[in-house]
Amino acid sequence: MTADAQLADRARTLDATDPLAAYRSRFVGHDDESVTAYLDGNSLGRPLAASVDRVRDLMLQQWGGRLIRAWDEGWLALPERIGDELGRVVLGAAPGQCVVADSTTVLLYKLARAAIAARPGRRRILVDRDNFPSDRFIVEGIAAECGLELDWLEPPHAGGVTAEAVRAAVGPDTALVLLSHVAYRSGYLADIPSITTAAHDAGALVLWDLCHSAGVLPVELDAWGVDLAAGCSYKYLNGGPGAPAWAYVRTEHQHFQQPIQGWLGSTEPFEMGQGYQPAGGIRRFASGTPPILGMTAIQDMIALIDEAGLAAVRDKSVALTEFAIEAVQAALADFGVAIASPLDAAERGGHVTIDHPAFKHVTVRLWEQGVIPDFREPDGIRLGLSPLSTSFAEVWRGIAAIRAELERA
Ligand SMILES: *Cc1c(COP(=O)(O)O)cnc(C)c1O
Repeated sequence: MTADAQLADRARTLDATDPLAAYRSRFVGHDDESVTAYLDGNSLGRPLAASVDRVRDLMLQQWGGRLIRAWDEGWLALPERIGDELGRVVLGAAPGQCVVADSTTVLLYKLARAAIAARPGRRRILVDRDNFPSDRFIVEGIAAECGLELDWLEPPHAGGVTAEAVRAAVGPDTALVLLSHVAYRSGYLADIPSITTAAHDAGALVLWDLCHSAGVLPVELDAWGVDLAAGCSYKYLNGGPGAPAWAYVRTEHQHFQQPIQGWLGSTEPFEMGQGYQPAGGIRRFASGTPPILGMTAIQDMIALIDEAGLAAVRDKSVALTEFAIEAVQAALADFGVAIASPLDAAERGGHVTIDHPAFKHVTVRLWEQGVIPDFREPDGIRLGLSPLSTSFAEVWRGIAAIRAELERA
């Protein structure tokens, strides 16, 4: 057998023995032959067929039938109800600590400002150069607004932020550390418990961005001692384009003051009274009217993850990224493609990034043929492998298509 035939054969065997294989058929478009390989479920998860029904019911029965009465009949409670389900199934958080609201960017701002206010007198924020743009821009803005200084970690290209690096960089003047659990480019999986402990030992708070980990790997926010976290719902949580984000605020920190003081974060919104009085509990971290249409579909992915089990989802995620690395090494190394993600599965999230100078151009050609990874500057193709909707055969088809384009280049 040729090396290619062997890889195709391995993909077939892995699919045939995959205990989660059947879940793929629950997603809209799984049988669309114009999409040869969807390798971007970490950027926009596929819709679930169940969500089509749920959104139709929302529009026809709830919005169309119950009209404004639907707010009292369930909508007003939905951000906290979905938050509790996320906490139970995905985040390892006891009830009353998660809420769905805003976008990740806005929640990061609210939580970072709340943390700064809770550490008066401390003047420094620690962040890393490879963090997502919003994360970096938010703390740059807060530093300018509040007269603080930023300390920058410089993680290695194919790696990320370690506990040792954080321990060496925090001090008695550090108010806040803002990091991503899984690095959006390299896929490096940060060690939340030891980094959080390192920051706490210096008296600082940590805000974790879980955009690239929620729904794809087990998380234990309560047990890990996490202070504050936020993440988006349209990646591995399949909430749809622009689905609102979620925030976690540990119960003992729920007295923190967040900066966007709106009526729905106040004690008695419908009294329309004078003077902002923050609500108790997690609701004080909400601000305005919750985007009900936008958060509706998240419920179906939470239910699916609950059914499959997050540990099994992580097992398949590891198997997918291991296979992707094996296939890249076998089929693309000769073309000078470099793996820009950790090779050790224990240090890797749900995606693998590979670098080559031709990849910007190659990605355009791949999209035209229905092979859909994404491109990240300066020269990376990111293979995002959403475990419940991606097959091993798709991974191989994608990598074979990348090689065909490199052969043509
Ligand atoms: C996707 C992503 C975001 C997105 O923020 P939005 O406000 O939802 O656009 C933020 N941080 C990280 C690490 C991400 O991967």
